Amino acid sequence: MRSVFYPRLVNGAFGDPALYIHLAHRGQALLFDCGDLHALTVRELLKIRAVFISHAHIDHLVGFDALLRAFLYHDLNLQLFGPAGIIDQLAGRLASYTWNLTAGFSFVLTVREWRGDRLEETVFRAQNGFAAEPQPGRDCRDGLLYETPFCHVRAVRLEHGDISSLAFALEEPLHIAIHRDALEQRGFLAGPWLGRFKDLVLQQASGQTIMTVPLADGDTEEVPLAELVENIASTERGMKVCYVTDASPISTNLRKIIDLAAAAHLLVIEAVFIHQDLPRARLRNHLTARIAGCLGRLAGAMRLRVFHHSPRYLDRPQLLDAEAQDAFLQKPKDDS
Ligand SMILES: [Zn+2]
Ligand SMILES: [Zn+2]
Repeated sequence: MRSVFYPRLVNGAFGDPALYIHLAHRGQALLFDCGDLHALTVRELLKIRAVFISHAHIDHLVGFDALLRAFLYHDLNLQLFGPAGIIDQLAGRLASYTWNLTAGFSFVLTVREWRGDRLEETVFRAQNGFAAEPQPGRDCRDGLLYETPFCHVRAVRLEHGDISSLAFALEEPLHIAIHRDALEQRGFLAGPWLGRFKDLVLQQASGQTIMTVPLADGDTEEVPLAELVENIASTERGMKVCYVTDASPISTNLRKIIDLAAAAHLLVIEAVFIHQDLPRARLRNHLTARIAGCLGRLAGAMRLRVFHHSPRYLDRPQLLDAEAQDAFLQKPKDDS
C-alpha cells in the first residue's frame, strides 16, 4: 500500500514526545503531543491543522508557544484536542501574555476537551486578545474526536497515575489505490486531479460527476467519475497509525491499547523503561519496552516504533528498541 501518512518523531526516541504526521498530497499535517518543537521549521508548523494532546505534563505541551508564535500572524484556524482540563490550562497559558496589538489578526484557535462522554469546545481569537468563547460542545461517547473525508482520529482514555492520558488512532476511512498502468493505457496524465478524484470518491459523489482529465498528448478529456472508479482505481482498508504514551502498566490500560491499535499499520508507543525496571515503571506510571512490544504483537500491528525512553538508558540507546522489537516479533515468554 502506498502510504498516505508520513509519521516522524520530532525529537527522536529520547526527546520530548511529538509525532508529526504529514498527510500525503494535501500539504497538511497533524501533530500528536506538543513537546519541544524547535526541530520543526515554521513552514512545517504552519501545515498543522489539528493537534492532539495526550495530557498536560510539561514534556507533552511545552511546544505550544512555538505553535502559537508561528500561527499568530496567519489567517489560519488551528484545532487542538486534549483531555479534561485542557481548555482551562490553555486559557491560562494564553492569558499570561499581553495581546493589545492583535486586533487586526485573524488567527483562530479552537480547543476541544474530551471528558469521555462529551467533547467541550472553546474558541480563542487573536482579534479578541484570546478571550475564551465557550461553544455548545457535543456528545462524544465513541471517542471520535476529529473527522474529515480523508482521515479521522479516535481516542481512548488511559490511566496515568491519578490523571488520564489520551491515546489516539489516526485512520484513513478507505484507501484508494491508483493503477498507474491503467492511467497509461487510457493516455491519462498523473497530477493533482487524482487528489480531487480521491476526494470525490471518499465524499461518495455521484458517479455522473464529470472530471476533466489531462491527457499525455496535452489535450483533456471529460470522464464520468464512475468510469474512472471502474478503470483506474481500487479500494482497500485504509491506513491506520496509533499513538500511545504515558500509560500505567495495568490490565485495563493494556486491554484498551490492544483494542485501539488492532491491525494498525504502525503503532508508535512509549517504552520508557526496560522490563527489568518494571517496579520503577509501575511507580512512574509508564510502560516498559517489553510490554510495548507485546501490546503491538497482541494488537496485530504491522510495525512498531518505540519512544519516550528514559534518559537513564542514554548510554545504551538501542536497548529499549531491541527489547520492544524482540517482544513484538517473538512468541510470548512465560515470564512476560
Ligand atoms: Zn511523558
Ligand atoms: Zn506524563
